[in-house]
Amino acid sequence: MTKKNDTKQLIDKLDETHALSRDEWICLIRDRTADDADYLFERAQKVRIRHYGRDVYIRGLIEFTNYCKNDCFYCGIRKSNKNAERYRLTKEQILSCCELGYSLGFRTFVLQGGEDGSFTDDRLTDLVSSIRMRWNDCAITLSVGERSYESYRQLYDAGANRFLLRHETYDDTHYRKLHPSGLSAAQRKQCLWDLKEIGYQVGTGFMVGSPYQTFENLADDMLFLKELNPQMVGIGPFIPHHDTPFADQKAGSADLTLFLLGLIRLLLPKVLLPATTALGTVDSDGREKGILAGANVIMPNLSPPQVREKYLLYDNKLCTGDEAAESLRSLTQRMQKIGYEIQVSRGDSLNV
Ligand code: SAH
Repeated sequence: MTKKNDTKQLIDKLDETHALSRDEWICLIRDRTADDADYLFERAQKVRIRHYGRDVYIRGLIEFTNYCKNDCFYCGIRKSNKNAERYRLTKEQILSCCELGYSLGFRTFVLQGGEDGSFTDDRLTDLVSSIRMRWNDCAITLSVGERSYESYRQLYDAGANRFLLRHETYDDTHYRKLHPSGLSAAQRKQCLWDLKEIGYQVGTGFMVGSPYQTFENLADDMLFLKELNPQMVGIGPFIPHHDTPFADQKAGSADLTLFLLGLIRLLLPKVLLPATTALGTVDSDGREKGILAGANVIMPNLSPPQVREKYLLYDNKLCTGDEAAESLRSLTQRMQKIGYEIQVSRGDSLNV
C-alpha cells in the first residue's frame, strides 16, 4: 500500500474532526489534485446521505427588484450600471409567483433583491405577512441585503424564517477590493450575527475566484463558516458582468467551487448546501456535479419570465430551461439520472 499524501490525510482529518487549522486549509485548497477531489466527493456524498439521504430540496427564487443603492464592483445590478433595465414587482405580482410556485410544489419562497429603498420596513413586512397568511405551511426566506437589527426583527415577527446574506469574503482588505467605501466586512458580519440572534435560519457564503482572492482568503472563509455555524451556505464562482469594473476579470472555476462544496459538507455535515445558478452557468452539468460533490439544494427561478433576464448579476446567468421553476419535471429527471430525488417539502436545516 502506498502512503496517503498530505492532502488526503487532511481530508480524513476534516471528515473526522470537522475542523482544520488555517495553515491546513491553505495547504489542502492550494495543493489539491483531481484525485483528491474524487476522494473528497466520495466522503462528502457519504456524509450528506447519512444526514439527508438522497433528497434534493428545492426553493422557489423570486427576484423581486433589481434596484439597488449599493455599488458592489462585481455585481451587474449595481447602482452605477446605467444600462441595467430596472424593475420592481408589485405585491400582487409577488403573490402570483408564490401561488404558481405553491401549485408546482414549492414550499419555500426566497425573496431576493437589490437593496431597494422603496421596500421600506413597513412595505416588506406587509408583503411577508401576506405570504405568511396565505401559505402558512411554507418557509419564507429573505435575501435583501444589510438592514438594521430592528428591521430584521420586524420581518421575523411578520413571519420570515430564513435569511440569506453571503459574507462575500471574510478578510476586510479583500472585502474593500470588491466593494466601495462605506461597505465593510465587519458590518456584513454584524448583520449575520444579528440575524442569528433574532432566530432566523441563516445562510451565508461567498464567491469562488472573485478578483484578488487568495488561498489565505478562502481559508479564512472556511474558519468563519465554522465560527458562524450557519444553517445554509451558498457558494458559486464569480462570473464577470460586462458593465461592471470587473468586466475583464477572470471567472472563478467550477472545479474549485466543487472542491469547496465537498469541503463544506465535511466541515458542517448537516448544513444545507445549494448547487447554485452560477455553478450551473459556468458548467452545463454544474448542478449535477454540485449534488455529487455534497450539495443538497437547488433554487429554480420563480420570477415572472418577463423580468428574469433583467436580474442579471453576471453575464449569461441561466434563467431558462431547467433553471426555470416550470421545468421541475425535467429537473426531477436530471436528478433521478444521478440517483437523487427532488423533495417538495420545506426542507429545514438539520444544522440547528
Ligand atoms: N442584495 C442582496 C442579494 C445580492 S445578489 C444581498 O446583498 O445579499 C446574491 C449574490 O449573488 C451575492 O451575494 C453575490 O455573492 C452573488 N453575485 C453577485 N454578483 C456576482 C457575480 N458577478 N458573479 C457571481 N456571483 C455574483
